[in-house]
Amino acid sequence: MVLMSYIYLLPGRSRACKRFFMIRALSILLLSIIFYAPLLHAGEFPPSRVMDVLHYDFSLSINDSNDILKARADIRLRLLTPTSRLPFHLAGLRADGKGMLVSKAMENDAAVFFVQQGDKILVDLTQPAGVGQELDIIIEYHGIPADGLIYSRNKYGHRTIFGDNWPNRAHNWLACVDEPAYKAPVDFEVIAPEHYQVVANGIKIEETNTGNHLRYTHWKETAPLPTKVMTIGLADFAVQYAGSAEGVPVYSWVYPEDRARGFHDYAEAVDILSYFIRQLGSYPYRKLANVQSKTIFGGMENANCIFYSELSVTGMGRDGDLLAHEIAHQWFGNTMTETDFSQLWLSEGFATYMANLFLENKYGRDTLVKRLRTDRDTVISFSQRNHSPVVDSSSDYMSLLNANSYQKGGWVLHMLRVKLGDSVFWRSVRSYYRQFRERNASTRDLQNIMEKESGTNLAGFFDQWIYQAGQPLLEGTWWYDEREKQVTVKITQEQAGSFQFPLDIGIYINGEKTGKKTFDIRGKTNSFSFKSAARPDRLVLDPDTNLLFQGTLIPK
Ligand SMILES: [Zn+2]
Repeated sequence: MVLMSYIYLLPGRSRACKRFFMIRALSILLLSIIFYAPLLHAGEFPPSRVMDVLHYDFSLSINDSNDILKARADIRLRLLTPTSRLPFHLAGLRADGKGMLVSKAMENDAAVFFVQQGDKILVDLTQPAGVGQELDIIIEYHGIPADGLIYSRNKYGHRTIFGDNWPNRAHNWLACVDEPAYKAPVDFEVIAPEHYQVVANGIKIEETNTGNHLRYTHWKETAPLPTKVMTIGLADFAVQYAGSAEGVPVYSWVYPEDRARGFHDYAEAVDILSYFIRQLGSYPYRKLANVQSKTIFGGMENANCIFYSELSVTGMGRDGDLLAHEIAHQWFGNTMTETDFSQLWLSEGFATYMANLFLENKYGRDTLVKRLRTDRDTVISFSQRNHSPVVDSSSDYMSLLNANSYQKGGWVLHMLRVKLGDSVFWRSVRSYYRQFRERNASTRDLQNIMEKESGTNLAGFFDQWIYQAGQPLLEGTWWYDEREKQVTVKITQEQAGSFQFPLDIGIYINGEKTGKKTFDIRGKTNSFSFKSAARPDRLVLDPDTNLLFQGTLIPK
């Protein structure tokens, strides 16, 4: 639809040009329908909240002879506006035969009329219902998931089935409201051939062989989850209790062929989880499972049921970074969820920096510095290709998995920590968690809490680092006046837009670092002087790796 109105906004163009645009627009539209229909439709869901989902119960039947999923979604909800029709996301049948066909919809056990429109299902109520009314809607459907629930073969050739919902691919197999701001507790009740073990969010409350070589497995998650981190996984697994992290049981689920290597690699999760519980406050869930899987990502932070790429298992235990990143997401992204994907850095930036902090705690400051420098290089090279701010309202959610959300988000948190000091930083993060556990948060919510805890106005800080694109590009020169015993430094900001920040300058005399001076950089041109008994051999910008910038400081 956007493309069509775009054509009529081109009054000055010739008919031939319009025809070209029309053909181009139609072909893009057609390609979009074929390839991107699920994503486009998901974005169209009415932003006004029609309802609050209180609970999902998904009953799923999976077999080995084909990839057809039979499903029943039992959705408990409360109305936020008077309505006679409820919309849900569910991927409809496509030309290639994949997608879901709804066979029945019910309201409180009474069959009701429904219509499938693209990737939505609209369910009519038996009568108009008012604000605050609670309803049970049941939707029965079946089909081959086009995405979101991945039927595959693992690296050993065995059939596996793994949910992979990020960002809004859940509605390919789950009738739901597929947006991060709609969170609800979820039950998964799965009937599958008995050779599979089934893992999911929450606690396993039942496992029963039902005859005909089938098994029923019921997992119950009582904490509200966004759909992006709801999941199930079916495979032939080896399962180990890896230990307890401050009372939270941690399990490793790996392919039987990778049993020894996988148990070894994933065992590090116990220490990582303990570290984050001590730093952040109590874990928001009742268990943590680390699962070898077929996710399309290197790791996917599904709530308390983290899926890692099957290639993550090496037996070398080198993936503390990956494990720490995904485990940090249990706080940042899962229980404290961004209000929408423009705020993705609240998930990815925090997970990136929290992994860095875990590694700093484990291996020391040098490890943190090395990682910050690599991250800074990544941010700079990304900003040269893509001049966009961290908070980015792009509707192409996959494209938001970029250096702004991850490394720059992490760097902003590092600069906040430097600015506020360790104890205020951690106190603010813990306060953020206390207030937004099981809820949704925006950048402004984080800023408000940081300001309250520190007593510092951070509007300028957030504006320049989060809402303004790029980072400082500094060109500096310095000279020494022998007579005055004085060093003068001149720094200019060369990037578009202006930043304000404290700049550290390291002083080296006879090859030794003899001191550090800090100056406030404001505006495009800055100069300052300081006394020095001897001529420095060099001055170094940001010697402690506390600033996201690029630049040079050379003698005149
Ligand atoms: Zn992440």
